[in-house]
Amino acid sequence: MSKTERKYWNMKVEPKLNTPEIKEFQLKRLKKSLAWQYKYTPFNKNRFDKAGVKPDDIQSFEDYAAAIPIVGQEDIRAVIAEVGLDMEKLMRHLFGDKRMDDLYLLTTTSGTTGVPTPYPNFRAALDDAQEMTGRAAWRMGIRPGDRIGLCFGLSMHAAGTPQILWFSRYPGVTIIPIGAEAGTEKILQFMQLFKVNVFTGTPSLALHLIERAPEVLNMPVKNLGIKILMLGAEPGAGIPEVRLRLESEYGAKVFDLGAGYGCSCDYPIYQGMHWLADDLAYYELVDPETRKPVPIAEGATGLMAATSLHPEAAVWFDMRFTMNDIHQVFTDPCPCGYSGFRYKIVGRADDMLKVKGVPVYPASIEGVIHSFSGRLTGAFRIVLDEPPPRVVPPLKLKIEYAEGIRESDLPGLEKELGVKMHSLLKIRPAITWLKPNTLERATKKTQLLEKSYEKG
Ligand SMILES: [Zn+2]
Repeated sequence: MSKTERKYWNMKVEPKLNTPEIKEFQLKRLKKSLAWQYKYTPFNKNRFDKAGVKPDDIQSFEDYAAAIPIVGQEDIRAVIAEVGLDMEKLMRHLFGDKRMDDLYLLTTTSGTTGVPTPYPNFRAALDDAQEMTGRAAWRMGIRPGDRIGLCFGLSMHAAGTPQILWFSRYPGVTIIPIGAEAGTEKILQFMQLFKVNVFTGTPSLALHLIERAPEVLNMPVKNLGIKILMLGAEPGAGIPEVRLRLESEYGAKVFDLGAGYGCSCDYPIYQGMHWLADDLAYYELVDPETRKPVPIAEGATGLMAATSLHPEAAVWFDMRFTMNDIHQVFTDPCPCGYSGFRYKIVGRADDMLKVKGVPVYPASIEGVIHSFSGRLTGAFRIVLDEPPPRVVPPLKLKIEYAEGIRESDLPGLEKELGVKMHSLLKIRPAITWLKPNTLERATKKTQLLEKSYEKG
């Protein structure tokens, strides 16, 4: 097999993903990592001290889960409340001096939910990041000669500028950092001018470009010749209806990437993202309410947390850290024939709505709405009259109907939508209809919740 025909980027590690052999390796690495954390990271040392254990007391995965509670963004907020918004002090506490003295590039999350979370890139992390990028991009079919249009936000965005570094040793590709900030018109023009054939950005931006291409370029988005859409930072590519629409409008393969170290495969029916990092991170699920471990087995669902097995290079997923995503895992072999168990993002733990006790995630609602492609534009909002998660039924939705739909069509459409929502999500929403293009289109993250209780 020649260099460009091999199955995996890393022929040594990737065939072993999700095997008992790698599990053994993980336990060895985990013990070393915990000792490192105890020694070098104040935040994590405190967690051992609080639990009254030393790294040596942890000899198994079960010991680990029993001793060290999960942490997440709310714990970071608690630290901020303690040390104030002195980011330098905060990061030294969270990551330790050893890593911070090696800080190379600093990005943050978008801060849509309050204080932006710093996303430091340490020099020691570059190798791992390039390795993970290689594994994912190789599976997606990115090959020498490809031109990648980087359309995530470049300013401070964790998936923006760093990608330029992550791809720097990938053979033969050219990165064109257009950036979400450029706006849809420039993005479309630049992709055409520079013959971009791989788009990377958010699914909502990719969807929006479909609507804009005819007026900006005088042609459908399909004519750009894009072969791969590498999407992340928000759900969408994992929603079957969204994926189908993107694939048919672009004539491209759609891949979902992120929420950990994984990417989806090109099996025609979405199978979730393959977890590609057993050697670099230990993946766990816990019950979102009790925080008790949920065994990784076909179909299991829980709050995802992970631990770095190479802490010198880690950013988040340092030690049982959760990004608040609810995952469902699939451990049976994937029909695509590639290694790695798979995970689907069901929603965010803090996005969960409980409509009369039934858990509903905005991403699931989005999926149903996108299945009416052609009759709905896909744009919608969930209107909340009181702080989530509790929703007194009916759940209120504002939905845009598509061009060409007459007002007399709406009652029938509403009935059909209601039946589908009820059979798939067990909710009967109250719908307010909006004309096409009423709702603001975001080029970064689309805020699906309209919090009416915050306005008055
Ligand atoms: Zn697969």
